[in-house]
Amino acid sequence: MSGKVYLVGAGPGDPELITLKASRLLAEADTVVYDFLANPELLALAPPEAERIYVGKKGGDHTMGQEDINDLLCQLAAGGKTVVRLKGGDPFVFGRGGEEASALFKRGLAFEVVPGVTSAIAGPAYAGIPVTDRRHATEVAFVTGHEDPSKDSSTINWAALAGIHTLVFLMGIKNLPNICARLMEHGKPGDTPAACVRWGTTPAQRSVTSDLAHLPEVVRQAGIKPPAVTIVGSVVELKDELGWFENLPLFGKRVLVTRTRNQAGKLSRALRRLGAEPVEVPTIEVLPPSDPEPLRRAVASLADYDLVMLTSANGVQALFSEMARQGLDARALAGARVAAIGPATAAALAERGIQADITARVFVAEGLIKALESHHLAAARVLLPRAAQARPVLPETLRRRGAEVEVVPAYRTQAPAGSADKLAEALDQGVDIITFTASSTVTNLRELAGRQRHQRLVAASAEGAVTIASIGPITSDTARAAGLTVHLEPEAYTIEALVDSLARHCGRS
Ligand code: SAH
Repeated sequence: MSGKVYLVGAGPGDPELITLKASRLLAEADTVVYDFLANPELLALAPPEAERIYVGKKGGDHTMGQEDINDLLCQLAAGGKTVVRLKGGDPFVFGRGGEEASALFKRGLAFEVVPGVTSAIAGPAYAGIPVTDRRHATEVAFVTGHEDPSKDSSTINWAALAGIHTLVFLMGIKNLPNICARLMEHGKPGDTPAACVRWGTTPAQRSVTSDLAHLPEVVRQAGIKPPAVTIVGSVVELKDELGWFENLPLFGKRVLVTRTRNQAGKLSRALRRLGAEPVEVPTIEVLPPSDPEPLRRAVASLADYDLVMLTSANGVQALFSEMARQGLDARALAGARVAAIGPATAAALAERGIQADITARVFVAEGLIKALESHHLAAARVLLPRAAQARPVLPETLRRRGAEVEVVPAYRTQAPAGSADKLAEALDQGVDIITFTASSTVTNLRELAGRQRHQRLVAASAEGAVTIASIGPITSDTARAAGLTVHLEPEAYTIEALVDSLARHCGRS
């Protein structure tokens, strides 16, 4: 049985601009064959075991020729594979998707086409330029800028193009001087508004505007390189009013996300919504405690406790997986009151069917102590399953109030293997903002960065060249103890509040 090749548009760069169909097909793929312009983040949608083959073309630098790509797709399909051929933008807009489909057709192999959001429309849109607009343009032409316009063999009808309201050139940066000259030669006025948008729809987006006569010089001076789209026509005038993406509060900021791989996604998504580029370098991973016995024993006698206190979502996760291992569920907690340090911990409990009886108003151990002030704790049996490395203030205070507190290491954290290299790369490329969401993220970052890089961060944070955003006072104390200048700490110690205060700090919200 032969397989099938799906020629799939990956969208222009913003990973959320992929279609639902493309994302489903990626999740079902045996093999993904992808290009330079397909956002690599989308590869994460394919199953971990799916084969990923890069056949990218970047300028003249071809990993694989078109014939070889066609052959590869045919071989994979003939071998029974479900193949996603992932292409930047739309596969049939200057994407050679037609040629690949023809090759499959000629060998009797099955294919489908999944259109994508093309950069020819989305790039201008993210720069605030509608390609048509009743006030300006009732027609638009998409043109390849790849053909050398000085060649006699050009198939482009320059005379016709000169009369069309909006022109969008793809692959046109190298030939831009020729393109503009040709259009003017054929009657397009030199004062026609024109723009270039590089890396449109991504946090690296840059756009410049000028007029047709001066665009090549403006682009050269601004250092705009491929990939970029060029727009010629009076619709470009709307950019001043309609530009939106580049005005987002965190637009273009590179933000280091130091949480665990599993927890990073939520923060990264919130950052991306505000135009930032999240750079994920997990500085912690969560592991079972070195000695699993205390947690096992505590779970086996859950019925003995009056109060169970959870101080992190990780603690909830660890407690419930041990419960599951012992064949227990939420009902095992029926006899105890349950306290949660903050909304994320409460949400983790709620997901497992437990509504916390007690929650802190300020999301640190001291806040939880305050929330327990009106509770009678003398002789109460309290279970505190939490990180092996946690602070002693909570159990000590509760014991002073007469409670019998059992602190049980439910998990421990460590720096994941390989993260030192990733961190070095991220820091050397430069980051604008570093987010710390727990004391351990600070301690581990310092360790992973090494002395020199850490010293540089200390200096950069003091100068304000790098903004340090900390989730709460304990994390901030740890950061200050590590020499860093902390620039912001939200009022509520949650991810949402952290991102909000970053947006306000960066001042464009
Ligand atoms: N099939 C793609 C186009 C491939 S041709 C699509 O529909 O978008 C490659 C050209 O696309 C680049 O040279 C550039 O002109 C344009 N391009 C692709 N992604 C872009 C982006 N994010 N921003 C600006 N131009 C982009």
